[in-house]
Amino acid sequence: MSNGIYFSILIMTFLISNAALCWISMLCFGKKTHVGTNLGRMISACNMVQWCFVFNYLFGGREFKAVMVSLERVFLAFAIFFLAEYIFYMCEMEMRKELKVFLFVLYVLDAALLATNPINHFVANVYYVENGFSEVARLEPKFLFYVHVALCVALLTPVSVALVIKAVKMSRFYKFKYLSLVVLEMLVILFNTIYSLKFDMGFDFSIAVYAPVIAVIYYMTFVYKPLWLTRKFQTYTNEHIMDAIVFYDKDGRVLSHNDRVDQIFDKEIWSDKERLYEYLGKPAEGTAIQKVGERFYKVNYTPMYDKNNGQYVGAVLIFHDNTETMNRLEREHRIATYDSLTNIYNRLGFFEASNNLLRNCREKAGFVLVVSGIYNFKGINTSYGVTYGDEVLKTIANCYSKLSKKMQMVYGRTAEAKFSCIIKRKKLDALVEALTSIPISDENGMEIYVNMLHGFVNLDDPTKTLDFYYEEALMALAKGKYMQRSPVVEYTQGMDEELKRRQSLISEMKSAIEKREFFLELQPQIHLKEHKITGAEALVRWNHPTLGRIPPGEFISLFESNGFITDLDEFVWDEAASIIKELNQEGSYLGPISVNVSQEDINNTDVVSIFEGIVKKHDLAPEKLHIEITESACADDRTKLIETMKGLREKGFLVEIDDFGSGYSSLNALMNLPFDIVKLDMLFMKNNNFDEKSETIVNAMTQMIHAIGATIIVEGVENDEIVSRAKKFEGDIAQGYFYSKPISVEEFKEFVKKFN
Ligand code: C2E
Ligand code: CA
Ligand code: CA
Repeated sequence: MSNGIYFSILIMTFLISNAALCWISMLCFGKKTHVGTNLGRMISACNMVQWCFVFNYLFGGREFKAVMVSLERVFLAFAIFFLAEYIFYMCEMEMRKELKVFLFVLYVLDAALLATNPINHFVANVYYVENGFSEVARLEPKFLFYVHVALCVALLTPVSVALVIKAVKMSRFYKFKYLSLVVLEMLVILFNTIYSLKFDMGFDFSIAVYAPVIAVIYYMTFVYKPLWLTRKFQTYTNEHIMDAIVFYDKDGRVLSHNDRVDQIFDKEIWSDKERLYEYLGKPAEGTAIQKVGERFYKVNYTPMYDKNNGQYVGAVLIFHDNTETMNRLEREHRIATYDSLTNIYNRLGFFEASNNLLRNCREKAGFVLVVSGIYNFKGINTSYGVTYGDEVLKTIANCYSKLSKKMQMVYGRTAEAKFSCIIKRKKLDALVEALTSIPISDENGMEIYVNMLHGFVNLDDPTKTLDFYYEEALMALAKGKYMQRSPVVEYTQGMDEELKRRQSLISEMKSAIEKREFFLELQPQIHLKEHKITGAEALVRWNHPTLGRIPPGEFISLFESNGFITDLDEFVWDEAASIIKELNQEGSYLGPISVNVSQEDINNTDVVSIFEGIVKKHDLAPEKLHIEITESACADDRTKLIETMKGLREKGFLVEIDDFGSGYSSLNALMNLPFDIVKLDMLFMKNNNFDEKSETIVNAMTQMIHAIGATIIVEGVENDEIVSRAKKFEGDIAQGYFYSKPISVEEFKEFVKKFN
C-alpha cells in the first residue's frame, strides 16, 4: 500500500472515531447522573489518548513527539481512573471519600511525573522508531514507570473483580447486561494495554474499534432493556389487571390476549374478530357500555393505524367489567325515581317515564295527563293518624297499579297527596270511575271513603313540555277543588287567569276584613203556617274596590281550601250578633239569625267557645243565633262534628243541618247527629225532575225528622209551586227568592215591617 493511501485511511479512521467518541461523551454528560458523568469523562480521556497517539505518530519534531507519548500515558491513567469510578457506580458501590481523594492525589502526582518526563526522564527514557512516514516516540520504562502501571492495575483489578461478581450474582434478567459490560471493559483495557506495550506493529488500528466498543458500552448502560423482564411484567399485568384485553391483527387474528377474556366469552368467539363482532355487534370507536350475558362491560375499542401511511394495522379491545357500577347506578336511579312509601314512581320517575312513553309513541295525540289529588288529605292525617294516611296512599297506588294492567298508562305519586298519570283520553272515564271514591278500611276495619279530584289536560301540542302540561293539569285540579262536587275538570284556556284572580283574592282577604269590604245580607225565613218572619240567614258579600261585588260562591270555597274561611266566619258571626242586638234593641225584629259554619271552622278552631265569646260580648241569648252546619260525606272528622254540635246545643245555640238532600247527605248519617233544625235544599227537586217516587222519599224523610222533634226549613223556594209542595210534606219554614232575595239590613227591616 502506498504511503499516501495509508496516511489517508489513518486520518479518516481517526477523525470518524474521534467524532463518534465526542458525540457519545456528550450524550453521557447529558444524562446528568454519576454513571453518565464518569462514563463521559472516561470516553473523553480515551479520546485524548487517541489525539496524543496520532500526533506522536504523524506530526512534529522529536521534542513534540516526546511530549505526546508522555501525555498519552497521562490521559490513559485518567481514563482508567474514570472507568473505575463508572464501574463503581454501575455496581452500586460507593468509594469512601478519603480513599477517592487519596487515589486522585496519587493519580495527579503520577500525571505530573509523566507530563514532566520529556524534561527530567524520571519515569522513562524516550527513543524513536521509524514508522514509514516519520518517527514515533516510545518510552523505555524505568522504575517509576512500573509504579505507574502498578497504580493502574491496583485500581482496575478490584474494580473489575467487583464487576464480575456483580454480573455473576445479578438476577438472570440483568446478567446479560453486566456480563457484556465485563467483556466490554476487558476490551477497553486490552486496547489500552496494546498502546502501552512496545509491540512495534506500525499503526495501531485498535482505534478503529475503540468507538464501536464504547458505543456498545453506552448502549448497554443506558439503552438496553431486558426483553424477558418486559415480557414477565407484561404477563404479570395481564394476570392482575381486572380488564380483559385482546389485540387483533389487521386480519382479525388474535395477537395477544389475557385470561380474563376467557371468563367473558368462549374461545370460539374471541379468537376471531369477525365472530366476536357477530356476537357483540360491531363496537363503535371509543368507549361504550355493553351487556354480555348477565354482566355489563365498558368496551373500549381502538383501531390502530400506521402513523406513516394511515393504514389499518389492527385493533385493541378492552373489556372493563362495569356490572357493579351499573347495578349501583341502577339502584341509585331507582331510589331517586321511586317513592319509597308506595313503591311507584315519584315525581322525577314519573316525568322520566312519561317523557320516554311520549318519545316512543308516534302519535302523541290522544293522551291526557291527569293529576289527581286526595280530597282533604291533611284532614285524613289529623283525624285518623299518619299510619292510616300512609295506608290511603298505598291503597291508591295499588289502584293505579291494577288499572295499569288494563290500560296503557304511566303513573306516579308526584306530590304528597297527588298522583299523576298519562293515559289515552278514551280511558279517562274508567280512571275517574275507579279513583274518585275509594273505600279504605282503617285499623278497626271501618270503611272510610276517600275522595279524589282529577284535573286533566290533553297532550296535543308536541312543542309543550310535560312540566308545562303538569302545571295546566294542576290548575284544572285546583279549579275542581274550588268548584267542588265535580270530580274531574279539564284544563281550559284562561284557567291561569282565573287562578291568578283567585290567588289575588286570597292575598287581599285579610286586609279586606279590616277595611270592612265584607258585609252581610239577610234572607228572611217565613213560617208557612203562621205566615210570619221567624228567622233570617246571614249571607256574606264582598264589595271589592276594583272587582265589584264578588259572589260568595267564588270566594267561600277558595278560603275554605286554605283555612282563611275561619277568619272571615268569625267576622260574620260577630257581625251577625251585633245586627241581632241592634234589631232587638230597636224592636224592629225580635227573631233569631242563622249563620253558616264551614267544615273547616270545625276542623281548625274551637267553634263552641268562639260562639260563647260572641254572645257574651254582645250580651245576647244564645238561642238568638242559629248555627248552620253542612252535613256531607266529605265531613272528615265526624266525631269532632258531633262533639261541636253537642257542645253548641249544650250552650243553648240552635243547630241547623244545612243543604240536606243535596248530593252526599244520607238520612242514616243524619240521624246520628244532634240537631234542632234541618234545612232541605229544594234545588235538587226542581220541577222537572220531581216525580212521584221522590215525593214519597221526601215525605218519609220529613216524617222521620218531625218524629224526632226537629223543625224543617225548606230552602230554595223559588215559586208558588214549590211553596205548595213544601206545605204538602209539612215543611215548617220556607226561605227563598219567592219571598225575598238576601237583602241589606235596612231592607230587611222594611221587609219585616211590611210582611208582619
Ligand atoms: P247556603 O248556605 O246554602 O246559602 C243559601 C244560598 O242560596 C245563598 O247563596 C242564597 O242567595 C241562595 N238562595 C236563596 N234563595 C234561593 C232561591 O230561591 N233559589 C236559588 N237558586 N238560590 C237561593 P249565596 O249567598 O250565594 O251563598 C252561597 C253559599 O255560600 C251559601 O250557601 C253558603 O254555603 C256560603 N256562604 C254564604 N255566606 C257564608 C258565610 O258567612 N260563611 C260561610 N262559611 N259560608 C257562607
Ligand atoms: Ca246556609
Ligand atoms: Ca243552604
